[in-house]
Amino acid sequence: QPVIVWFRDDLRLSDHPALHEAASRGAPVVGLYVRDEQGRALKSPAARPLGGATRWWLAQSLRALSNSFEAIGGRLVLRTGPAASVIAAVARETNAGAVFWNDIAQAPHQAIAGDVESALASDGVDSEIFPGDLLVEPKSIRNKDNRGLRVFTPFWRRVQGLGDPPKPLPAPKRLTSISGIASEALDDWQLEPIRPDWAGGLRETWTPGEAAAQARLKAFLGDGVHAYTDDRDRPDRDGTSRLSPHLRFGEISPRQLWHAARFAAAEHPRSAGDIDKFLSELGWREFCRHLLFDVPDLADRNLQQHFDAFPWKRDARALKAWQRSLTGYPIVDAGMRELWHTGVMHNRVRMVVASFLVKHLLIDWRAGEQWFWDTLVDADAGSNPANWQWVAGSGADAAPYFRVFNPILQGEKFDPDGGYVRRWVPELAQLSNDLIHQPWTATPIELASAGVELGKTYPQPIVDHKQGRERALAAYAKIRRSN
Ligand code: FAD
Repeated sequence: QPVIVWFRDDLRLSDHPALHEAASRGAPVVGLYVRDEQGRALKSPAARPLGGATRWWLAQSLRALSNSFEAIGGRLVLRTGPAASVIAAVARETNAGAVFWNDIAQAPHQAIAGDVESALASDGVDSEIFPGDLLVEPKSIRNKDNRGLRVFTPFWRRVQGLGDPPKPLPAPKRLTSISGIASEALDDWQLEPIRPDWAGGLRETWTPGEAAAQARLKAFLGDGVHAYTDDRDRPDRDGTSRLSPHLRFGEISPRQLWHAARFAAAEHPRSAGDIDKFLSELGWREFCRHLLFDVPDLADRNLQQHFDAFPWKRDARALKAWQRSLTGYPIVDAGMRELWHTGVMHNRVRMVVASFLVKHLLIDWRAGEQWFWDTLVDADAGSNPANWQWVAGSGADAAPYFRVFNPILQGEKFDPDGGYVRRWVPELAQLSNDLIHQPWTATPIELASAGVELGKTYPQPIVDHKQGRERALAAYAKIRRSN
């Protein structure tokens, strides 16, 4: 009897426990991806609908997965509808004896999977669920009160203390499939923008899919990782792996990263420190996912309750200026343009733009989180809200609210030659290094000779840094007093 493998955020063939098990049984395998528009289980909150950029990525990734399936004799079937009824229907059509899938340790996904399991059970079809896309399952790292850990360092120590995760599984070499099962056409799903087609920058920047993810990992461990500790904070350098969207869609698994990184460390002992640092960033992904497991509404509510009284400003104009890269702070505007064009932003600059929105503009972190959710190709249900709350000061192991990033000093420190700003804000490119992060301090002659007309070719700062900082601290003092 055929086995159905239900794919979700695990769009790969290698290190895919559910597919590996199905293939090793020797029965025909049907790969199935369900577009569940409602993403809702019977009695639980809906899964968060994808944003624009992740919809684009999903289309490319499904295309790549479908091609890889065909290359080994299998087939990926696409269907739309509530997951439970669709999967039960495909099981009946194919006379499948079992459905396998990998767990996603997130409440809405587990609730949907619970409905799938019940629907199958009532038809006498088995379900088997395999460990998901984490190094360690959230239930295995708890404190004395049976809660997940809220501080990163002890969390990561505990994960490391558990030793190496299982070795990644190979991709099946050959699959037997069955013919005659209808699949919807990916193009009909309209995941990609048509008019206006804003995805040109994404196409230029990325090759989604498992093969590209593996190639990126190999290239990074062969070269970039050896300077990771120094370069990871430099947006003007190509110093990080750029694996985040691949990880987001499970085109590569964290255990594959872990083992490849450990192998690289054994081969290059002098880079062991850089490789440990890289793995600890993967640890942050894990930490955010574990947090989300404990706090399913992480994107909606302040983890630290006293932030509920924070006097956020409703300022649609300021929010728009931030979204459209018109704040007048070059490092902030460069970051927002990188995001719009490529679907990602360097981590250091994410922190700077997020701090600017929350602290200088006093806009609720949820508005920024939502914008990132829609525009990031790596938009992640755990990492995005967890990092926003970290910057806002309302989250787990958060940066204290009173630490307000200075966008001028951040620019000067991490983009010292202005290369990042020149790339994304070319209208400032002719300014000297000491002016490029604060063009408003240039003399009229300096501005004129660089072809900059403040207020015309590039905006004046929408808020003065010092005043913005003081206003943020005063707002924070209010919630501390009322606490
Ligand atoms: P590398 O430096 O090569 O790191 C390797 C991997 O570690 C990354 O691919 C990512 O999976 C993980 N990682 C690194 N830093 C973090 C972090 N701070 N938190 C969680 N995981 C991390 N990352 C997302 O994947 N999705 C998001 O939606 C997201 N939203 C963010 C929002 C804000 C406000 C901030 C400050 C950070 C956010 N991050 C998010 C974390 C981080 O910016 C990106 O993971 C990183 O920039 C991706 O680039 P990279 O793959 O080259 O990272």
